[in-house]
Amino acid sequence: METHVTLEGNTLVTVIPGDGIGPEVVRSAQRIVEAAGARVAWEEREAGAEVFRGGLPSGVPPETIESIRKTHVVLKGPLETPVGFGEKSANVTLRKLFETYANVRPARELPGVTTPYSGRGIDLVIVRENVEDLYAGIEHMQTPGVAQTLKIISRKGCEKIVRFAFELARAEGRRTVTCATKANIMKMTEGMLKRTFEEIAPEYPDLEAWHLIVDNTAHQLVKKPEQFDVIVTTNMNGDILSDESSALVGGLGFAPSANIGNDVSIFEAVHGSAPKYAGKDVINPTALILTAVMMLRHLGEFEAAAAIEHAVLVTLESGVRTGDIVGYDKGTPTGAYTDAIIGNLGKRSERWQVREYKAQILPQVDPRPDFVRPHQRRVMGIDLFVETPISAEELGRSMEELVKDTAFTLKMISCRGTQVFPSTGAITDIVDASYCRLMLKEPAEDVSDDAVAELLHRVSTRHRWGHIEKLQEFDGEPGYTKSQGEN
Ligand code: NAP
Repeated sequence: METHVTLEGNTLVTVIPGDGIGPEVVRSAQRIVEAAGARVAWEEREAGAEVFRGGLPSGVPPETIESIRKTHVVLKGPLETPVGFGEKSANVTLRKLFETYANVRPARELPGVTTPYSGRGIDLVIVRENVEDLYAGIEHMQTPGVAQTLKIISRKGCEKIVRFAFELARAEGRRTVTCATKANIMKMTEGMLKRTFEEIAPEYPDLEAWHLIVDNTAHQLVKKPEQFDVIVTTNMNGDILSDESSALVGGLGFAPSANIGNDVSIFEAVHGSAPKYAGKDVINPTALILTAVMMLRHLGEFEAAAAIEHAVLVTLESGVRTGDIVGYDKGTPTGAYTDAIIGNLGKRSERWQVREYKAQILPQVDPRPDFVRPHQRRVMGIDLFVETPISAEELGRSMEELVKDTAFTLKMISCRGTQVFPSTGAITDIVDASYCRLMLKEPAEDVSDDAVAELLHRVSTRHRWGHIEKLQEFDGEPGYTKSQGEN
């Protein structure tokens, strides 16, 4: 559970100025937070380009990690991902190190930021699962010419993000939560988020809950974005939908974000280090200022947060704008823009409203790794992945011969998800990676290692196998999908 450290009554925040335009936007946000009288104190720490250059492959020094472990709250500028040295993005490292499972990206229409949608009142939040899905980065070459990546989605991860989204809707006084998935195609992974959402929704009868296929969500966001309130989605979908939604309201200069975990929360703008503008006092700091507003609400500093949001609205409404909006020859410099916002603290716009926020409850789900425990399980067979250049017909006949008198029978062979043996008549462009679906003649609680070892031994006399996946049933429900064309 996140517990904050206070220093003379002020909550301590680890601040990472970052690279490129980072120090300028972070300084702008800090000045405004201080001027608004928020009870925060800063502990400045390093991460990013200089650290990579100093030879640390993670880009995040131990002193920074130690500070975050202590304060539990981070306000950070963008970190460059160096090309040529440094193994991974320091941004992703920070998000993953501290299990910040919820990425929150609000998108609201702002005064004076003209877009094709101006006047329609866009005010939505994308809640993106932040640690699972294709971003687990588990990739393999099945053969020299066929790559795969694993999409990992857990029921525990789904419960955390779904509950988080409903709680966020309540805290922000919102009315609807839309779950966007590709459950129609990926029934196990994306379907798990949909099922979890539908099971949990009745616990929030005050909120309207609906599911929408993610491609239609993208379409609806362009067509009628004002219909959305909170959208909860998986990592990859969220990455795309949140960039789409920031573009609807003026782009990167106005896109704040928060990475929330139950222990640590990291607040950062969506944009990167925009190196060509570094040190020029021209960049738009609004994204990081609105990010700091999210941080203040997270810390319970509702008054200061609202004062800053009002001041940003008043400033933009009065026509003070940075170069990204009005052209860099005409724009107000970063420092002067910051001064204007500070000068407007205490003022309120007649037209542009600020929501009433309450403290958000963070979901506490069962921490056990075996989050779902079936009463009964049965292993029905295995999928054996093989690399071979021969035809599906030849591979099928060969496998039938090889498995004769073993514990298995060959049900079918699938190439890139389509059944190719026995032939269904489908026109399939075959590649050299296939899987053979081998069903156990006698399904049991587990398949014996001896049976698998004998099978592998036989298969490897003729074919190169890559990996095995057990086909399991949990409480009578198959834990594997059919191939296209498989009956
Ligand atoms: P970027 O830094 O976000 O900049 C792309 C373009 O977006 C800029 O050239 C500028 O557009 C516009 N822009 C970005 N921030 C702006 C702001 N505050 N105000 C106005 N316009 C802004 O993306 P990038 O060039 O792809 O990435 C640069 C570095 O940042 C890379 O090393 C990348 O890995 C890193 N990065 C870090 C984070 C993070 O820390 N979370 C996120 C993304 C990227 P115009 O050129 O049209 O004026």
